[in-house]
Amino acid sequence: MVVVMQERATDEQVQRVIAQLVEMGFDVHRSTGALRTVIGAVGGRQGDPALIEVLDGVKEVLRITEPYKLASRTFKPENTVVGIGDLRIGGDEVIVMAGPCSAETEEQVEATTAAVKRAGAKVLRGGAFKPRSSPYSFQGLGEEGLRLLRSAADRHNLKLVSEIMDLSQLDLMEKYADILQVGARNMQNFTLLRELGRCRTPVLLKRGISATIEEWLLSAEYILAGGNMNVMLCERGIRTFESYTRNTLDISAIPVVQKLSHLPILVDPSHGTGRRDKVTPMARAAVAAGADGLLIEVHSDPDHARSDGAQSLFPSQFDRLMAELRIIAPAIGRSICLEPVARRGWSR
Ligand code: PEP
Ligand code: MN
Repeated sequence: MVVVMQERATDEQVQRVIAQLVEMGFDVHRSTGALRTVIGAVGGRQGDPALIEVLDGVKEVLRITEPYKLASRTFKPENTVVGIGDLRIGGDEVIVMAGPCSAETEEQVEATTAAVKRAGAKVLRGGAFKPRSSPYSFQGLGEEGLRLLRSAADRHNLKLVSEIMDLSQLDLMEKYADILQVGARNMQNFTLLRELGRCRTPVLLKRGISATIEEWLLSAEYILAGGNMNVMLCERGIRTFESYTRNTLDISAIPVVQKLSHLPILVDPSHGTGRRDKVTPMARAAVAAGADGLLIEVHSDPDHARSDGAQSLFPSQFDRLMAELRIIAPAIGRSICLEPVARRGWSR
């Protein structure tokens, strides 16, 4: 259940409600918004809401009918904004995360990072541990890849998002990355999700290949229930009967998630289509539909990429896409890195 406190409720009144909920066996999550405090009570036995309703300072008690609680808008009506240093994800600005599928060489990472920064990306993406369908495909450079990505991100003043595949990589990943990406194949790795709930590093949770939106939000709930509220969702296409594209990008997931949940939602049109020429139109559509950000594969030499070359944009294509997004975003009241960095005269 969700307990909405009155605007002028005192801290003692809030504490009294929390104590009663704890006594009833609930786990309590307090959210103090600009106007009022909201208390989420999950787990435990379903107590009688009337016992809470009569307490001083309580405005109303709502039952959360969705199976996910902390991820729901009933628990938290206002959007979650994930802050990483000076970066805000889920606010007015559309945040673009871009870079190679995998870190391959120092030259490739540097050239790609410089290109995405110039075009206006705020976060460098890049994999060091790669979940590949075949055990014979390139599996990533491991820690060496993380080192290359981190130093390029630092040189170009970008944040870094990289995929964690397994619990055993947690310490290493937290040392190098600002955002931990949970890939589609791991969306229901509940042991991993629980552990990510215990840390405070922001998590980008991709939608599973055949996951419903409800299953996806329940996976987010695992992380939130552990106390890590820095969760972002990423739609990356689902498997359907259509075989022309690698996956079917579910653009409708954006407004659906935004109605059901307060968590930021990003879109990955690269894995969502698997084809370079389809990435730009779907990225435009995602921003027009209200996505809080994009995750896009860009490679300095995609024809020789060791993974996902066919869906990776050339730097010049990414430049052009960013210029187009600068027209689309304001049309729906959003901002996006307003000018190419190069034109601002920033040099490194
Ligand atoms: C990736 O981002 O490179 C990746 C492997 O993504 P997904 O988990 O969506 O397939
Ligand atoms: Mn990839």
